[in-house]
Amino acid sequence: MSVREIIKMGNPVLREIAEDFSPKEILSEETQSLVEDMWDSMEAAGGIGLAAPQIGISKQLAVIRLQEQSERYPDMKDSEDFVIFNPKITVLDETEQGFWEGCLSIPGLRGYVERPRNIRVDYLDEDAKPKSIEIDEFLATVFQHEIDHLIGRLYVDRMKDITTLTYEDEMVLESAEN
Ligand code: ZN
Repeated sequence: MSVREIIKMGNPVLREIAEDFSPKEILSEETQSLVEDMWDSMEAAGGIGLAAPQIGISKQLAVIRLQEQSERYPDMKDSEDFVIFNPKITVLDETEQGFWEGCLSIPGLRGYVERPRNIRVDYLDEDAKPKSIEIDEFLATVFQHEIDHLIGRLYVDRMKDITTLTYEDEMVLESAEN
């Protein structure tokens, strides 16, 4: 277990399309210890999600855990721990919802991003078992943000109004949502 360095916007790895895992690869010791490192790195940075490309590994893996006591995102409910391999998104409701998003690869900044409010995500879990979940609200945004990392997209690409890009210390962070 170790904390890996998180790469920042401008590093070309963040713009690559990440490679799929085979089920055998998911079950390997190497991948299981990578997942541990992902959790450690996310926790150390105070994040609520981390995608493998953010630690320089261009593979289809992300971890997500919302925490009620998060300093970066107040007013959030705890979620279960999600380890997602090879995720695919299906939009169930195209109605958009907006949140102030941040990214560990774009430290210090937030931007207002609107995304579909209800999605289904099909993926393989840590045991390489297929899973399908339906999610909405803030968690749906977090999944879309993390899965974007696996196709070389960052939240700033999704912003409709770049003038909302703001340094965190210039924001009044009353709530993660708006
Ligand atoms: Zn991010």
